[in-house]
Amino acid sequence: MKHPTRLLLAALVLAPASLLPAADGLHDLVANKVAAEYPSLEVLYKDLHTHPELSLMEVKTAAKIAGELRAAGFEVTENFGGTGIVGVLKNGPGPTLLIRTDLDALPVAEETGLPYASTTRVTNLAGQEVPVMQACGHDIHMTVFTGTARMLAAMQDRWSGTVLFVGQPAEEIGVGARAMLTAGLYQKFPKPDYAIALHDSASMPAGTVGTVEGYIMANVDTMDITVRGIGGHGAYPQTTKDPIVLAARIVGALQTIVSRETRPVEPAVVTVGSIHGGTKHNIIPNEVKLQLTLRSYSDGVRQHTIEAIRRICRGEAIAAGLPDDLMPVITVKEEEFTPSTYNDPALTRRVRGALAAWLGADQVLSVDPEMGGEDFSQFGRTQDKVPLCLFRLGAVAPEKVAESQRTGVPLPSLHSSKFAPVPEPTIKTGITAMTAAALDLLAK
Ligand SMILES: [Zn+2]
Ligand SMILES: [Zn+2]
Repeated sequence: MKHPTRLLLAALVLAPASLLPAADGLHDLVANKVAAEYPSLEVLYKDLHTHPELSLMEVKTAAKIAGELRAAGFEVTENFGGTGIVGVLKNGPGPTLLIRTDLDALPVAEETGLPYASTTRVTNLAGQEVPVMQACGHDIHMTVFTGTARMLAAMQDRWSGTVLFVGQPAEEIGVGARAMLTAGLYQKFPKPDYAIALHDSASMPAGTVGTVEGYIMANVDTMDITVRGIGGHGAYPQTTKDPIVLAARIVGALQTIVSRETRPVEPAVVTVGSIHGGTKHNIIPNEVKLQLTLRSYSDGVRQHTIEAIRRICRGEAIAAGLPDDLMPVITVKEEEFTPSTYNDPALTRRVRGALAAWLGADQVLSVDPEMGGEDFSQFGRTQDKVPLCLFRLGAVAPEKVAESQRTGVPLPSLHSSKFAPVPEPTIKTGITAMTAAALDLLAK
């Protein structure tokens, strides 16, 4: 077993009852409080949506959410690991539960046509002016996070333990969670026994949630390859070593890593997303640049893929007759690596039980793992091996999901300029789901 500690944790996690008693009025209490809080939460949501901020620039966003946590009665630390925020609410003996939201938005020009659409443009950290949009729905996450904080603060007689509310920066570029852990999140604050988060879904109907045990999101690697050659006149190729032909061969050969070298039941992706070389019709250039994204679940497949790319690049360059000092230069951007997200099976089963008890079993879907990345994984990748559960939150009007199924016209995906979550049912379901999970994990 790769994670022997999980067996022990599984026994601990499964010990308490996973179905909450519904007969003591708790569900009604939460439903009434969610309804009472919703109008002010919708104001917050629209404000966050209209005023998005890019990764590592979430200054006003973080201040707003910190203010909300403080108002709910949390002890709040700001500017932790960059613009990160940490809210702690201690409520007697018991486990510590980490609940995470992300804070950042994307450089996308919003085209939803909503009255509260973003028209924000900013100068990014590279000095370019870009549009900004909450195109991944992190504004939904922050609103649910705030609502859940209010719920747990108002119902301290219903749970016991500590909650650690973490607002992490820079999820979209995969560096924010690591920055908070490096800043000492697990040393300076209570160390969590579990960590949970949600991410909205651009394909599931609002009112539903989705879980999957085991891997849910992939290892994400970013790689640059510079294919080198010997340039010259396009009419005299015999005097050159053409890097464009070599790059084309390499792109073709890379396709065999997944199809011929990887066990068919082990997911992997090798995508060459960008290829640039040359300046003019009749000049053979000196180099071609490739940009790749690599995806996998297991560490073994990840390592193999990277090594296979190195071998194929070198082999093709040798076949092209290039000397040793002109082998392709391969850079794996370790600082941008996002590890795969592993949903602890025992914890996920328990969270799913709570979600089903509160939302109804037919509202809790089983979702497929995906090859996208999510740096929530980092919270489970320290030596503490904190068990994680990331679940999905439906965010699309049910009639739009039905229409898409009927017409075959796909819905706007996450990161689309047209992605427009339907706020009220999504936020209310998110708060109910997160509160249900927390009350179960912190049951007295
Ligand atoms: Zn995203
Ligand atoms: Zn996202």
